[in-house]
Amino acid sequence: MVTTTSAGISRRQFLAAGGLAVAAGCLVPKGLFAQGDDVLVPNAFKEAATAKVTVQTLRRNISVLYGAGGNIAVLTGPDGKLLVDSEIVTSRANVSAALATINADPIKQLINTHWHFDHTGGNEWVHEAGASILAHENTRKNLSKETRVEGWKHTFPAAPAGAIPSIIVKDDHTLHVNDTTLMLNHYLPAHTDSDISVHFTEADIFHTGDTFWNRDYPFIDYSTGGSIDGTIRATEANLAKVTDKMIVIPGHGAVGSRADLILFRDVLVEIREKVAALKRQGKSLAEVVAAKPSARYDAEWGNLFMTPSAFLALVYQGV
Ligand SMILES: [Zn+2]
Repeated sequence: MVTTTSAGISRRQFLAAGGLAVAAGCLVPKGLFAQGDDVLVPNAFKEAATAKVTVQTLRRNISVLYGAGGNIAVLTGPDGKLLVDSEIVTSRANVSAALATINADPIKQLINTHWHFDHTGGNEWVHEAGASILAHENTRKNLSKETRVEGWKHTFPAAPAGAIPSIIVKDDHTLHVNDTTLMLNHYLPAHTDSDISVHFTEADIFHTGDTFWNRDYPFIDYSTGGSIDGTIRATEANLAKVTDKMIVIPGHGAVGSRADLILFRDVLVEIREKVAALKRQGKSLAEVVAAKPSARYDAEWGNLFMTPSAFLALVYQGV
């Protein structure tokens, strides 16, 4: 089903093969939450400038690009390229080069799964290249003004005019591009208040945006409507749509399947329940972190953007 890279390859192997293991390691915000420093976003800008971007062909006319930021889906055909998400702004050269290896067709449309900088950073250059940008109304809202993300200790200035989506959806939406039907579904507040999924129906490929991280603890943006319970609800919504035959593109990590989504749901629910029980006993965040309620997953799941203690802090905040 996956033509250029084995679907069975692990994310670690894939990232290592793509030369990203070192870059991902540099993104880990060691001590970020303890120090309260604005570290993660500046580091991500720096790492994305040199991080390799690799292409994996999936099914039919759809590929995925892996780089330092969010995964980009690419739909090709007579209407030109359609992208789902646009990575970190500093990855422009390497994203452009990767797109050129697919074909020389222009980028005509871009869909943002949500407003975060690692999914919308390329909006301005993609728009300049000739693409229209579609997103949920809250993506436009959050990009149109200065927006602080407390979890990253970072304040984002309003995006440039060319980066602002001009085609706005408020709820579910369907479009037809390149002989393909795209069904867009809006989530209730989950990872942010602006999350949408994209289902390429003929190829049966489902891009979840950041409501799903494959074998990594997810970031949750409480500053713009996200929560641990909303993230779990979104995972249940994904499971209600995703079948055993679908290819699932997560916001971060390698493409996966329904089984990976079930695992993600189970890990989130287990850690949420353990943290909630400790908090009910009156434990402080430091005491919860010291109790290591996520220990059995930390070696595998705590390596990308989120350290185990940073993830536990986000769970603790919401229970
Ligand atoms: Zn995000």
